[in-house]
Amino acid sequence: MAPPQRILFSPEKICMGWQQRQRAGAGLYNLGNTCFLNSVLQCLTYTPPLANYLLSHEHSSSCRQQGFCMTCIMEAHVNNAWNTSASAIQPRDVISALPRIGGHFMLGMQEDAHDFLRCTVTAMQRACLAGSSAWDTSSQYTTIVHQIFGGFLRSRVTCCSCKAVSNSCEAFLDVPLDIEAASSVTAALENFVKPERLAGENSFQCNRCDEMVTALKRFTIDCAPRVLTLCLKRFDFYGKKIGKFVQYPQYLDLRPYMSQGAAELLLYTLNAVLVHSGGSCQAGHYFCYTKASDGLWYQMDDTLVDRCDINTVLAQQAYLLFYVSPSAIAVVTQNLAKELIRIVQDTVIVTKQYKKFLQIMMAKLRKEACGRTPPRSALLPPARKEEQL
Ligand SMILES: [Zn+2]
Ligand SMILES: [Zn+2]
Repeated sequence: MAPPQRILFSPEKICMGWQQRQRAGAGLYNLGNTCFLNSVLQCLTYTPPLANYLLSHEHSSSCRQQGFCMTCIMEAHVNNAWNTSASAIQPRDVISALPRIGGHFMLGMQEDAHDFLRCTVTAMQRACLAGSSAWDTSSQYTTIVHQIFGGFLRSRVTCCSCKAVSNSCEAFLDVPLDIEAASSVTAALENFVKPERLAGENSFQCNRCDEMVTALKRFTIDCAPRVLTLCLKRFDFYGKKIGKFVQYPQYLDLRPYMSQGAAELLLYTLNAVLVHSGGSCQAGHYFCYTKASDGLWYQMDDTLVDRCDINTVLAQQAYLLFYVSPSAIAVVTQNLAKELIRIVQDTVIVTKQYKKFLQIMMAKLRKEACGRTPPRSALLPPARKEEQL
């Protein structure tokens, strides 16, 4: 893929660790079959890099959208859910915007939570591109929304006759997993990356052989997203449901499913589970489990927000799973790094060796706290203070 002409959101400003810690916020009133919407909103409200961004009001302070803006709506909602003293709020602005989030949504109808999530994230992506609609495709993948949820899949077809390889790459916002033949998410991911034989009617036109040939096609994750959304395909075309339990881990190593095997662990941590209970897509009930910024798990079922343990979280009939990348884990280390910086800034006399030691420590902590994307502004001491030391 061609390099982007412009970076629309600096990756260094995406912070995976929580900027503030507190217990889970408000529950959400069900305003008539709106549990599909409530459960998705709650999962997004506690997705660390998205919530950090929305809580900072950075978007609305520079938003150039005229009229409907999904990111502004989400920003207002998340701030309200986090900061209200009420035990539950009404997500009225999101509900009023429903027809603009997706033209096929009908007020009062039970909708598919995955569909709503997809439309919401896409609407936020559109909002991030407002005023810059003319950007090349690569640049469009540099919005904050795509940098949080987006990854790239590689599809590789290998001709069985001449061994010629052809690659193509496509962006994704979530990974749909077939669960019919899998009893766990890891088994479903293994099936997802298993080479598929293209033969007979599905033969492949090989350019080098110049004929239809038998070939092997394989998907792998070329670039992993910061927040990995997995959708367990429970509903068939007619809305009929596969109700079986599919096991999913608290920590998921993505290495076996990547195009290039990485040397380091690519360990994702479960951050939210969206559950569907009931027999079909058009009926039943949605609720979710999310990990709040205090590091604790909560069951969120419309107005109800209740503490629960990880064993409960891992025992659900999951529909959507949200995993966050390794860099999101180290909230504690990040706070420690901030504390160190404060000490450096407050200390009037610091010996050169001590300063050096602190700088090394901070660099290490910064790396741990934010992985690929250290939030420099938050962690580096101001340059002027440095000079004084
Ligand atoms: Zn906006
Ligand atoms: Zn060939």
